[in-house]
Amino acid sequence: MRDKFESHSDPFALAQDMAFGDVHLKYDEASELKAIIAIHNTNLGPSLGGCRFVSYQTSADAIFDAMRLAQGMSYKAAISGLSLGGGKAVIIKPEVVKDRESLFSAFGDFVEEIDGRYITAVDSGTHVSDMDVIARRTKHVSSTSIGERKTGDPSPYTAFGVKRAIEAAVKTKYGSDDMTGIHVAIQGTGHVGYYLAKELHAVGARLTVSDVNKIALQKVADEFSADVVDIHDIYKTKCHVFAPCALGGAINAQTVDLLATDIVAGAANNQLATAEMGEILKQKNILYAPDYVANAGGLIQIALVEENAVREKVSNIYSTLLSIFEQAEKNGKNTAITADEIAQEIIDKAGTKSAS
Ligand code: NAD
Repeated sequence: MRDKFESHSDPFALAQDMAFGDVHLKYDEASELKAIIAIHNTNLGPSLGGCRFVSYQTSADAIFDAMRLAQGMSYKAAISGLSLGGGKAVIIKPEVVKDRESLFSAFGDFVEEIDGRYITAVDSGTHVSDMDVIARRTKHVSSTSIGERKTGDPSPYTAFGVKRAIEAAVKTKYGSDDMTGIHVAIQGTGHVGYYLAKELHAVGARLTVSDVNKIALQKVADEFSADVVDIHDIYKTKCHVFAPCALGGAINAQTVDLLATDIVAGAANNQLATAEMGEILKQKNILYAPDYVANAGGLIQIALVEENAVREKVSNIYSTLLSIFEQAEKNGKNTAITADEIAQEIIDKAGTKSAS
């Protein structure tokens, strides 16, 4: 999937390869909104996915980004057992944002025109306050500060899910999910990294952390007795689990040979810079918890809202991953490919049902 994306320069060819749905473009003259809504698949339900507000070098880059992310959301929802499809929106950030409110109002109208096939949410560059603006124009919005879709910060649930993913990987690797003395190297101590450190410290794990933000880093070190290393040394840290919780592409051609871990399991999206990395991790006998399975806690919170239901579903990330690991072992494929195949099968089955 990621390799295919990288090699494409034609959105229709990408749409064909990804078995796409549809992609909507909007230019609104009054607000100067330039936005994309990509709906990958709605077999399981309306597509839900965040709205990014970031700058891009070209409009084509923004379209490809929305499409790639929408497919990821389809897989994440399917494998998490949610009645949701996959979609994503991008608002291309202008050099100067003249009137943020009118931009997000116009985007709200755009979402409304899609008529419920796409539900928007917070993502990179957007905030709860933007969702509140959108909510004045459409009901197809989550992550608002008021109303029935009020969900607040998803990071604690994402971190809880990542902890369950780490426990599943530890169980598979060492035969027990007792976390006492398990050494976890966390890359990034932001929203998710902080709560992950808290969860792991509470169950007796040993922590090493790194971040470019020295204040966030020191807070985690002080509160959870974590050792601090330089951002370049985190890859080389001899540990049981390496947990990428910063940016995408942490596992790449430059870093993969540095790893001194048995497991990779973290919160970051698109941890593998290319699909080949999944195969290299397998050859190195490093167990990889596919990112969209491990980090589904935030989506689950947005989808289910009610606290007990959310916690139960997020906790199930443990059993979902155990079965992915088992299946991967049985069929000899790497865990990233195995997860994609399972997710695609769930989506296809739902499509067959709704067609019959
Ligand atoms: P965040 O911005 O709060 O935290 C990221 C942290 O990484 C920051 O503290 C930043 O300083 C640090 N960082 C940046 N570059 C670094 C580097 N080279 N080395 C070490 N640290 C570095 O973001 P977050 O909400 O904690 O999310 C972390 C990752 O998880 C992101 O990739 C995000 O897309 C993904 N994710 C988050 C959620 C959620 O609920 N917040 C849900 C799903 C996926």
